[in-house]
Amino acid sequence: MKIINNTLHLECTAQSYIRWPQDKALFSSKKPYLLHGSGSNMLLLDRVYCGQLVESSNTDFIIREEDNGYYVELGAALNWHSVVKRLLDLGIFGLENLALIPGTVGAAPIQNIGAYGAELADFCWAVNGVLLDSMTECSYNNQACQFGYRDSIFKNELKDRFLITRVTLKLSKNYQPNTRYGALSELNKPTAHDIFKRVCQIRSEKLPDPAKIGNAGSFFKNPLVSVEQLAQLQKVLPDVVYFPYDDGEVKLAAGYLIEQAGLKGYQMQQAGVHSNQALVLINIGAATGLDIACLAAYVQQVVENKFNVCLQPEVRFINKNGECDAGEYLHQLRASSFYKNRVGLNEA
Ligand SMILES: Cc1cc2nc3c(=O)[nH]c(=O)nc-3n(C[C@H](O)[C@H](O)[C@H](O)COP(=O)(O)OP(=O)(O)OC[C@H]3O[C@@H](n4cnc5c(N)ncnc54)[C@H](O)[C@@H]3O)c2cc1C
Repeated sequence: MKIINNTLHLECTAQSYIRWPQDKALFSSKKPYLLHGSGSNMLLLDRVYCGQLVESSNTDFIIREEDNGYYVELGAALNWHSVVKRLLDLGIFGLENLALIPGTVGAAPIQNIGAYGAELADFCWAVNGVLLDSMTECSYNNQACQFGYRDSIFKNELKDRFLITRVTLKLSKNYQPNTRYGALSELNKPTAHDIFKRVCQIRSEKLPDPAKIGNAGSFFKNPLVSVEQLAQLQKVLPDVVYFPYDDGEVKLAAGYLIEQAGLKGYQMQQAGVHSNQALVLINIGAATGLDIACLAAYVQQVVENKFNVCLQPEVRFINKNGECDAGEYLHQLRASSFYKNRVGLNEA
């Protein structure tokens, strides 16, 4: 048994606990299992998880210096922010835009963590791990990881089949500050330390500290829409915030849409939309996973009704049987009488 606590301040008990590699003889890929880092991107919907909770215990931190850069091999169990800080202290730069992102190194490639103009894909050299159905060790280079916006092969073809045990990063010896993101472009010839400090400062001002207020960071993905859909949206929201993404597509700011829908600071039972950052759903005190899901369904519904844009969760939904499809879960919840009653009570 293992009690899981997460950044949303939700708790759940897993039936069994496998630390990889020391307990691997106890693992069975025929029984349900859940790959777990530190739970900062998970909505736990039930109080129990009826399966094997699997975590890598690798804390290797190995630096190989070559003429063309530093190759840094990192164990999956290391805390991401501590790695950013440790490398900065060693004079190895590049990751400072990704400071203060909660979670483990092993989870970072899954959704290709990103912030302030950078993403893991910019530095990832290889991802190593174990294909659990055959227990074979495998390595994927950057291209094979199929990184995209909050996406990778590990969320698709290899979803739940591949335990990441090691991530190797390649960091340049010729430091070029990345100041693409608005607030960083104001810095004059910044050092990596300046960027690190500024990113930590902005994040602490904008995002609630999960140690104090339960949250899972951005709850929804920034939606990608066609330019035709954007033109429709601009008729109701002329100042809509968007970023060019790909040919024929733009990325909208989900937080802006939630705010424009009038939901910033909105509360439903013990769950709320954060009053400074509408993209973050919070546990006000004693919310259950279902309370948070009901609020997420309501936010999705209001934004869809007002702007005809469907927000999809970035957070992974976990029930007693393992991960479920978050979009489908919200769809079914919205159709239930339980949810309709709850919304009715809130709006009364
Ligand atoms: C306050 C806050 C701010 C955040 N800001 C950002 C941000 O700016 N950018 C961003 O991208 N994310 C952000 N996040 C989301 C979160 O930090 C990332 O998703 C992080 O990578 C999750 O790490 P974790 O170890 O907690 O993973 P978990 O939540 O434990 O797991 C996440 C997913 O990865 C899988 N997984 C975990 N470890 C492994 C492994 N070793 N092998 C295979 N699969 C595994 C799990 O099955 C699950 O599907 C934020 C979260 C919070 C709470």
